[in-house]
Amino acid sequence: MSEFFSQRLAELKPYTAGEQPKDGRYIKLNTNENPYFPSRYAVGKIDGARLDGLRLYSDPDCEQLTTAIARYYNVKPSNVLPSNGSDEALAFCFAAFGDCGVVFPDVTYGFYKVFARLFGARYDEIPLDSDFSVRVDDYIGVGKTVVLANPNAQTGMCLPLKEIERIVAGNPDNVVIIDEAYIDFGGESAARLTEKYGNLIVVQTFSKSRSLAGARVGYAIACDALIADLQRVKFSFNPYNVNSLSCALASAAMDDKAYFEQCAAKIIATRADLTKGLLALGYTVIPSSANFVLAKSPKIGGAELYALLKKSGILVRHFDDARIADYVRITVGTDEQTAALLKAVGELEEKYA
Ligand SMILES: *Cc1c(COP(=O)(O)O)cnc(C)c1O
Repeated sequence: MSEFFSQRLAELKPYTAGEQPKDGRYIKLNTNENPYFPSRYAVGKIDGARLDGLRLYSDPDCEQLTTAIARYYNVKPSNVLPSNGSDEALAFCFAAFGDCGVVFPDVTYGFYKVFARLFGARYDEIPLDSDFSVRVDDYIGVGKTVVLANPNAQTGMCLPLKEIERIVAGNPDNVVIIDEAYIDFGGESAARLTEKYGNLIVVQTFSKSRSLAGARVGYAIACDALIADLQRVKFSFNPYNVNSLSCALASAAMDDKAYFEQCAAKIIATRADLTKGLLALGYTVIPSSANFVLAKSPKIGGAELYALLKKSGILVRHFDDARIADYVRITVGTDEQTAALLKAVGELEEKYA
């Protein structure tokens, strides 16, 4: 840290991103990317005219993308704010609604804590139950901004829409942010509830279920007033927040519903095989509605299993957080990648004394 760095941010601990090795040597099951090619229909939209369009600034209103998202969720364009990855939409939320304090579960997406510190929001962590489920009653009338990933990050567990609605209705004087990065793999989106509730923001991403992590596109859905708040933050930070190629790719990907559904269904089917395979090896597997599973070996500690698998050429994710330190998080890849993972895990368990 230089002597010039902000005193206010001196305690900031940045988010640790999963490894992104450049050499393609690993079977990469560590950052919940989609193993399938992005929509070919969408990729086909990047033609010469689009490239020529790079001379110009991107559309600050992201009109094409906003319209495509609004059409998909059957809301108005004024209920949608596209962002540079959903991380940016979440950052805007913390900037806009963090002053009254924020609550989120003790086991969840690591970025919430980082954003809280960056934007000076006090935060409380609410412990998950012993089985890692969210205790909905703990989130009623909290008097602070609520941030909840559904399905939850690191566990993959999902609350039914009725329970999400109970939390939103139970905090009428505070904003409730539902991060639905993984919703397309088995949950029911709360997007349509934004019509009924003036305190709900739903955040989603193209990174996981639409195979566009590198394009960096996400969005928030909420009532007009909350979207206007987020616009205020966005236009005070980066008006051209979604670049024109990503905007074209994402809008077309949104329109290519059939391919999206096919890929999501494939991942859900592979997740069932992965879960079954791990259970057969004696693993504890948290029931997942996401494109990953959190799993614990009967013999090998989480950090060690991560290291052993890396030696075998397979990357998974391990988190130091005490409550999940015995686990590793495994992304659902292709059937071939899943078979390779299960084979490697089986061999490690057999050799392990
Ligand atoms: C992956 C992820 C995000 C961020 O995704 P972006 O690539 O920034 O859109 C947000 N929330 C959760 C829970 C995630 O797992």
